[in-house]
Parts: sequence; structure tokens; C-alpha cells
Amino acid sequence: MNTPWGYPDFDAHEALYFVTDEKSGLRAIIAMHSTHLGPAAGGTRLWHYADDADALTDALRLSRGMSYKNAMAGLPLGGGKAVVLADKDRTKTPEMLASFGRAVNQLGGKYVTAEDVGMSVQDMIEISRQTKFVAGLPVAGGAVGGDPGPHTSLGVFLGVKAAVKRALGKDSLAGLHIAMQGAGSVAGGVCRHAAAEGAKLSIADVDAARAEALAAETGGTVVAPDQLLSLDADVVSPCALGAILTADSIAALNAPVVAGGANNQLATPEDGQRLQDRGILYAPDYVINAGGIINVSTEYLGDGGPELVRSRIEAIPGRLEQIWAESAASGSNPAAVADAMAQKLIGRG
Ligand code: NAD
Repeated sequence: MNTPWGYPDFDAHEALYFVTDEKSGLRAIIAMHSTHLGPAAGGTRLWHYADDADALTDALRLSRGMSYKNAMAGLPLGGGKAVVLADKDRTKTPEMLASFGRAVNQLGGKYVTAEDVGMSVQDMIEISRQTKFVAGLPVAGGAVGGDPGPHTSLGVFLGVKAAVKRALGKDSLAGLHIAMQGAGSVAGGVCRHAAAEGAKLSIADVDAARAEALAAETGGTVVAPDQLLSLDADVVSPCALGAILTADSIAALNAPVVAGGANNQLATPEDGQRLQDRGILYAPDYVINAGGIINVSTEYLGDGGPELVRSRIEAIPGRLEQIWAESAASGSNPAAVADAMAQKLIGRG
């Protein structure tokens, strides 16, 4: 019998909740990896999965990633994540969102949700009618809150600059070629920052209209999604979905740096070593993409204002440099170094 305990990504999850509401059609999984540092916090993804096992694997990997991300960002939060198993059209109704909100509420604050792929600020408002254990809500008058995307983008942009400094010795992205995978919320913000600094952008999205709109706005060039990862570039920035760095795609990379905001970029732990073996500098995803959860955390905990958010995001490059320095000293690849640091922080080292 297949059970969640047998999944390769189970990694001692503290709890898993399978949510079914036949009336609204909601099926969801809430995964809580660790509450060692605080409530398990991480967004909700609404996606159509080819089968249920893929959804469980995604939830487990994303949830563990949140434990590591929150710990490495120095936040008093544990790690969790939810996935909503959508139909092919990714149908999302107010009734489904309300039902999901009730499920989150039943956990009494052990899990705190926010936006992820397929979920908007508006959806968080719907969920907040059922539970207070939600962040990423709109706020007025300069208070902290709202869409985490721009904050993630800022952290990724600063992380890309740190990687470029380390790998290429350059202080600016001016004139450098960035291959951007995705043209959504995170990718859009990174492209705008990079274009403002004079970077040359190649942009690919499976949604061609999105890629075209972002390229028009930032002076970039649209490329086919299946060509993006092998472009001759200074930086490949994965900002779409996960598991895109595989033995094959790493062998085809033609850039000295991989630094982007997508979660779970490495298909397997061995892919971190494959990047190292090719001499490619990798920015561990959950370290570089922590800007959004930093904003969410500050909103939810109410422990500071925009200045605190900004200073926590500006600490991301320093954390990456610490990882790369330890990697250079130990010979262990950056992904493995980051995992070991994070595990220690959540009491599992
Ligand atoms: P989004 O839905 O706004 O954008 C994702 C884009 O990727 C979409 O336009 C989609 O069409 C495109 N895409 C999907 N598969 C693709 C492929 N194979 N090639 C090219 N494009 C593809 O989502 P987002 O909020 O920008 O998130 C992007 C990534 O960053 C996700 O992995 C997410 O988990 C991660 N992330 C997001 C945040 C945040 O604050 N939004 C925070 C941390 C991590």
C-alpha cells in the first residue's frame, strides 16, 4: 500500500491534512513540515495535477521548502504549504475558497496561508472571511501587506546581482544577458528591475501573450519556452515552475549563473552537484526567493513596517554569499550547504 510516509519527499512532515468538500468540489492538501520555529507558514497553490500523487509530492516538497526558507530568512515561522487540486480549467469558485478557508481555520493557527501560483490577493480576501490565519491581504496607507510578488522580485533581483558579482566580478547588470523563464508576477518584477539597470532580457512563457507583454514593457525579446534554458546568457533566471533543473537541462545550460525565484528548481538533490560540476553558480531557490514570505510574515505577525521588510530583503544577498563562501571552503555544493544550514535551524541537523 502506498502511504504518504513512503513518499521520497515525506521528510518527517509533522502533519498532512487531506481536505474534501463534495458540495463545493474542493480537494486540497495542507502539509505542515515543521512548527519548530513557529506556525507553519506558506502559500496555497491552485493547480491542475495529472494525478493525485503529483499533488502530494508538490505539497510535500513545497512545504519542506517553506521550513527551510523561513528558517534561512530568520523568521519566527515554521514551514507549510497547501495545494488545491483543480480541474483542467483551474476552476475556482467563492464556495471552494470559503471551504478552504474553513479548513485552514480548523487548524487553529498551526498553519498560516497566503498567495502562491493560481491564487490572488482577491482570493485571500475570500479566504479571510472564514479565518484569520491568512496573510497577503490588501492594506491601506503604507502598511505592510498585499501581494508578496513584488517583494519576492526585489529579493531575486538583489540575489541575481550578488551572483553576478561573485561569478563575473560585475557590480551592475548593465549590458548582461538574462534569460528569464516565466513572465508572471515574480518574473515581471525581476525583469523591470533588471531592465532599469540596463540588462538585456530574453523572456519565455508558455502563455505567449504574457511573454510578449513583458518583453514589450522591458525592451526584451520573446523566445520559445523550450529554448530558454540553453540560451547563451550571463544568467538563467527560473521564475516559473519547479523541477526544471534536471540532468538533461543542466547539461544544456549555457550560462555561468542560475538564479531565480521559482520554488524547487532542482528536480533531485543530485542536480545541485551537477550544477557545481559544470562550474555554474547556483543561488538556492528558497534563500533567494524569501522576499514574499518576509513581507507576509511582517504583515501577519505585525512586528514591523516597510523599513523592516526592506532591510530583511536586503539581507538576502549576504546570506547567499555566506552559502557560496562555505561551499567554496567545503567543496559541498550551494544547495547542499543551504539545506544543512536550514536543517540545523529547524532542529533537525
Ligand atoms: P505566476 O503564476 O504569476 O507566473 C508563473 C508563470 O510561469 C505563468 O505566466 C506561467 O504561464 C509560466 N510558466 C509555467 N510553466 C512554464 C514553462 N515551462 N516555461 C515558461 N513559463 C512557464 O506565478 P509567480 O507568483 O510569478 O511565481 C513564479 C514562481 O515563483 C513559482 O515557482 C512560485 O512558487 C515562486 N514563488 C513565488 C513567490 C511570490 O511571491 N509570488 C514567492 C516565492 C516563490
